[in-house]
Amino acid sequence: MDAIAGDGDHGIGMQRGSDAALEAARAAAEAGAGAATLLDRAGDAWSDRAGGTSGALWGVALRAIGGALGDEAAPTARAVAAGVAAARDGIRAYGKAQVGDKTMVDALVPFAETLDRDVDADRGLADAWVAAAAAASAAAAATADLLPRMGRARPHAEKSLGTPDPGAHSFALIVTAVGEVLT
Ligand code: ADP
Ligand code: MG
Ligand code: MG
Repeated sequence: MDAIAGDGDHGIGMQRGSDAALEAARAAAEAGAGAATLLDRAGDAWSDRAGGTSGALWGVALRAIGGALGDEAAPTARAVAAGVAAARDGIRAYGKAQVGDKTMVDALVPFAETLDRDVDADRGLADAWVAAAAAASAAAAATADLLPRMGRARPHAEKSLGTPDPGAHSFALIVTAVGEVLT
């Protein structure tokens, strides 16, 4: 997807970043770290090793979630939703993309909104997360019809018509995989 209008490195960057984040998270967990410390280390590892825009943005997201969760043993569903809202705000502040610019923000915003709404309705974290992941997947697929207005795909905007934004697509894959772990 990233080769159509971008520079073709999104998949390899996500793989490198998420592998490095997992390694850092495991090391932090073995050292007895809480959620905030673990996610902080994982976010740093992700942005250092992935390179590229999406790596920096995923680093921002993990650090923001960690900051909202703190090092408490068992975060509540409400705290997780607040963490995701902090990640959304952090990514928007860092990357300056709006909804409709054809970036991962297009999947992240409906994800955070649905999670917040369903957690408030006391659906429980797993069900709320799965509903939010479905909203993210639909929104990521719908980016196929948009013209990119941010990032490397913008100069080749018309080439990307008909193809979803790679960062929105990978976001949806990740939150869907997390939902499978939660349920
Ligand atoms: P790079 O563009 O540096 O090669 P990647 O290929 O890893 O980085 O990631 C590209 C993805 O990053 C895009 O598909 C888009 O989802 C996301 N992206 C690019 N710029 C922004 C931005 N300013 N705000 C949010 N997301 C962005
Ligand atoms: Mg790229
Ligand atoms: Mg690149």
